[in-house]
This record gives sequence, structure tokens and C-alpha cells, in this order.
Amino acid sequence: MKVAIFGIGLIGGSAAKDLRTANFCTEIIGVGRSEASNNKALELGLVDRIVSKEIAVQEADVIILTVPVNSLIQELIFVLDNIQSHQTVTDMGSTKGIIIDAIKEHPNRKRYVASHPMAGTENSGPSAAISNLFKNKICIICDKENSDADAIANVEALYNTLGMRIKYMDAHQHDMHAAYISHISHISSFVLAATVLEKEKDEAAILEMAGGGFESTVRLAKSSPEMWAPIFQQNKNYLLEVMDTYIEKMYHFRNLINKNKDEELLHFMQEANEIRKILK
Ligand code: NAP
Repeated sequence: MKVAIFGIGLIGGSAAKDLRTANFCTEIIGVGRSEASNNKALELGLVDRIVSKEIAVQEADVIILTVPVNSLIQELIFVLDNIQSHQTVTDMGSTKGIIIDAIKEHPNRKRYVASHPMAGTENSGPSAAISNLFKNKICIICDKENSDADAIANVEALYNTLGMRIKYMDAHQHDMHAAYISHISHISSFVLAATVLEKEKDEAAILEMAGGGFESTVRLAKSSPEMWAPIFQQNKNYLLEVMDTYIEKMYHFRNLINKNKDEELLHFMQEANEIRKILK
């Protein structure tokens, strides 16, 4: 079994580490972009060789696309144009609807399995790759019925090897849940960081007074804009909906403070505390 990874950054590099440790395959070949990242991926032993995408599609049994979602469609079409019936391609992109729609009529559609491992950190590039990133986390496989059974089995084996729990849903359901939970959290953190940077000009104060609360809430704002901007664009419809709710709630909260509505303020926060019942 030979695996090819397109985009050897946090997600691709972390997958490579665990696949190698588990002896999932005999060789991992990488397709990168910048020379600096390619050299880093080789130096860290994430991949055995850097190859062109033509060679990767010729040689690999399983092809994993872990490039940012704005490059993903183009790379997926390239792979599907060149793939043979014994090969499987999957992607780990954070959006699914637009990607699946773009290739739905492709003659090799069934060799593709759309997936999204819900695991990450705020760091990016090959040096951010870590072991066990995916362990015990959820992986969503979308529109399973549109992929060949053996391709699904290969991708399930891949995620089982990474220690993930697999769930199945359709692409649009996935995008809605991802917007409502994961994507809004990143937006909220980017906006919080921008707000604090605008209001608090004293960098030393930020450093000294950033207790655990600020640090954990703002962590996601350290994430790569190049990776996240296309996700927000591709998931625009669900995101605008959840952002409207967020902004309304923020205004409401502001009003409760401004009008000294202490009882209501307390009640608002007690309702928000209900999240403890879900996330213990
Ligand atoms: P990342 O650390 O920035 O890694 C992406 C890598 O892809 C970079 O090394 C980049 O090269 C390379 N690249 C970009 N375009 C390419 C192309 N056309 N061909 C080959 N390589 C290319 O990003 P990431 O966090 O691993 O995210 C990768 C994918 O996983 C994205 O689709 C994202 O939506 C998804 N994902 C991310 C998370 C998360 O929390 N980060 C979680 C789940 C899924 P350079 O280094 O030269 O720029």
C-alpha cells in the first residue's frame, strides 16, 4: 500500500506521522507547494519522497488531499481525471458541499470519498504536524452512497488507523453543523483578538493580564488566515445565518448591561451555562 498526501501541513503531516507509526502503508509520498515546506516535510520524516502530482497519481493506492479548500477542487479534479479504478482519493477539507457539487458529474466520482476529520490546532505547516492529533476525535464521511464500497472501506480503514470515530451525513448537513459549531468559534476568536488589539494599545498589559480565560478564548485567532478565509467563503450561507444570531445575542447582552437589567443578565448566563450538560 502506497499513500500520497497533497499538502503536507498540520493535517497532512499529522496523518502521515500516525499512518507511518501504525505501518498502514509501505511508503508515503508527498506533493507540496513551496520548496521550504517540502524540505521541512522531508527533514521531519513526514514523507519518504516529494514527487510531482502526476507521479503521485500514477503510484499511490490511496491519495489524501490536505490542501486549503480553495485549492482542493482543482487538485481533486486533477486526481479524478487521472485515477484508475483500483485507486481511492479522499480529502480532509473543512467544507464539503461546494467540493462535492464541483465533481458530482465526474465519471470517476465513485473513487472519491468526501471526509472531514474534526481535529486540529491553531498551528500550520509541516512543523505543526503532531502524533495522535486525530485520536478519539470524530471524522465525518459525507454522501457515502455516492462512493464505491471498496473506496469507502479504504477510507474507513485509514480513519480507524488514526483512531477516529466515524460518523456519516450528507454534505449540506455537515456544512451546517461545521458552521454552527466550529467555523463560528474561529470567527468569534478572530474578532475578539481584533477587538482587544484595537482597544488595548498596551501590549505589556495584554501579556500580563491575559489569564487563562483570554488565552483560551483567543487561541483560535492564531490560526492561518490563508487556510480559514476560503473556508468562510465556501460556507458563507450557513455562516451568515449563525453570525446574525451571534451579533443579535451580543447586542442583547450589551443592552442588558447598559439598562442594568441584572435579573435578565443572570438568566441569560444561566441559560448559556447549559452547555455544561453537553460538554462536561
Ligand atoms: P496547513 O498547515 O496550512 O497545510 C496546508 C499545506 O498545503 C501547506 O503546507 C501548503 O504548502 C500546502 N499546499 C497549499 N496548496 C497546495 C497545492 N496546491 N498543492 C500542494 N500543496 C499545497 O493547513 P492545514 O491546517 O493542514 O489544513 C489542510 C486542510 O485540512 C484544509 O483543507 C483544511 O480545511 C483541513 N482541516 C483543517 C483543520 C485545522 O484545524 N487546521 C482541521 C480539519 C481539516 P506551503 O507550506 O508551501 O504553503
